[in-house]
Amino acid sequence: MPEHHDLQHWINGRPHAGSSGRSLPVLDPASGAEVTIAPLASAQEVDEAVAAAASAARTWRATSLARRAEVLYAFRNVLRERADELARVISRENGKTHGDALGEVARGAENADFATGIPELLKGSFSEQVSTGVDVHSIRQPLGVVAGITPFNFPAMVPLWMCTTAIACGNAFILKPSEKVPTSAILLAQMWRDAGLPNGVFSVLHGDRETVDALIAHPKIAAISFVGSTPVARHIYTSGTAAGKRVQALGGAKNHMVVLPDADIDAAADAAVSAAFGSAGERCMAISVVVPVGDIAEPLLAAIKDRISALRVGPASDPDADIGPLISAEHRDRVLSYVAAGMAEGADLVVDGRTGDHPGDGYFMGPCVLDRVTPTMSVYTDEIFGPVLAVSRVNTYDEALALVNEHEFGNGAAIFTRSGGAARQFSFDVEAGMVGINVPVPVPVAHFSFGGWKASLFGDARIYGPDGVRFYTREKVVTSRWQTEDTSRMSLHFPST
Ligand code: NAD
Repeated sequence: MPEHHDLQHWINGRPHAGSSGRSLPVLDPASGAEVTIAPLASAQEVDEAVAAAASAARTWRATSLARRAEVLYAFRNVLRERADELARVISRENGKTHGDALGEVARGAENADFATGIPELLKGSFSEQVSTGVDVHSIRQPLGVVAGITPFNFPAMVPLWMCTTAIACGNAFILKPSEKVPTSAILLAQMWRDAGLPNGVFSVLHGDRETVDALIAHPKIAAISFVGSTPVARHIYTSGTAAGKRVQALGGAKNHMVVLPDADIDAAADAAVSAAFGSAGERCMAISVVVPVGDIAEPLLAAIKDRISALRVGPASDPDADIGPLISAEHRDRVLSYVAAGMAEGADLVVDGRTGDHPGDGYFMGPCVLDRVTPTMSVYTDEIFGPVLAVSRVNTYDEALALVNEHEFGNGAAIFTRSGGAARQFSFDVEAGMVGINVPVPVPVAHFSFGGWKASLFGDARIYGPDGVRFYTREKVVTSRWQTEDTSRMSLHFPST
């Protein structure tokens, strides 16, 4: 039996017992057993955390870039040393396999690597002699206290997308992790402390909607980064900007994978199965619709089915498991109801993973494939966020493109082909923020930025990378003249050259 502790918030560099009287159990989705109990922060606790963060932010913004880079280096090292431990915590609360959790930590750590370059990233510009004896330079300064609200599906990576850049830029960062997977955030807090980050620069407040509303209402929080579902992203964007804050809000997805007739069938099938069923389909960059163009549909579907038959559903404690449980019983039931709706609307269930011999009381379900899915079906329009792959057959590239472009979401889109010209045309035509060419999950590396189009992103700032640096800083332009006595004169005209 795992040790059972009630979780605490992390305020001013140390654990802080919740005092709101509200809490939620955190369940292990592989067994349904209670892992811990998470406190839910009240507006008063938000206020306490913000006060500590605001005070810390004043000192941290004055800390040299060299020192900030040193802390980031130390943090990336601790993160890698404790990667295995962090991955185990991720798996226990989220259910994903150990290898998948290690992958998440590795991709998150890339953002810490990127942020070690902060002295270079914050370099301003300088123009000498814009007028006689006058120079202009620009600087980027931190915003103060910023908050991040994160989803259940990447308990460490999404917080790392945000906090590494926000902190390197000189802000204090308050994380409100998903209440379903809260413990990773506390490990990250310990790592920041061990890396030498001053108290109050990184805080964790567990909570739910009430906590989020208090963060949005707080006048001392300058910016909110949000990653989660589209309805909540829209709400956070609208209410956050109405409260005068900067907001970046990343939402849901329905990522298509177009497979042209000339594609390598084995490579496309490997990619489709990995991207549809990895993390049990609970990835915002999962492939949820395969769009075979023309005659490739039959052999591609056969190759996909063949690969699925080798997949094993099981808990993260089983080293041979490929697909873990879904996050909750309610979510699994919702996913199952989509499969039923797809069949009722006329799709063919060609792989049926709805039942299976799964261990214990976990929230497992196996992979499902629905063929002949059409654009009006709910399995096509909605983000299902589970191990369900839709196949929508088309006859031409133009039909495939129209499907992708007419969808509400525009997070990622992939094309599989041997034709460079077709691939180039697709990246020119497609309305999605991230495009994969023979790459099914095109999550940009840390020195680019991540973000979708359409209902997958609210606001104009994508997350991490160069956009992250811009989002977490504001620019100041300084015009200076160091005149000698003989060049000084009074003029009431508007200044010109
Ligand atoms: P969610 O929207 O339910 O929750 C996200 C966060 O918002 C959590 O911290 C939660 O506590 C909080 N929250 C929930 N309801 C709220 C409300 N009404 N008001 C204020 N705060 C609220 O999302 P989830 O189920 O945790 O995560 C899955 C979703 O996240 C999927 O839609 C997925 O596509 C999306 N996602 C998107 C990206 C991306 O980069 N675009 C990345 C990961 C996940």
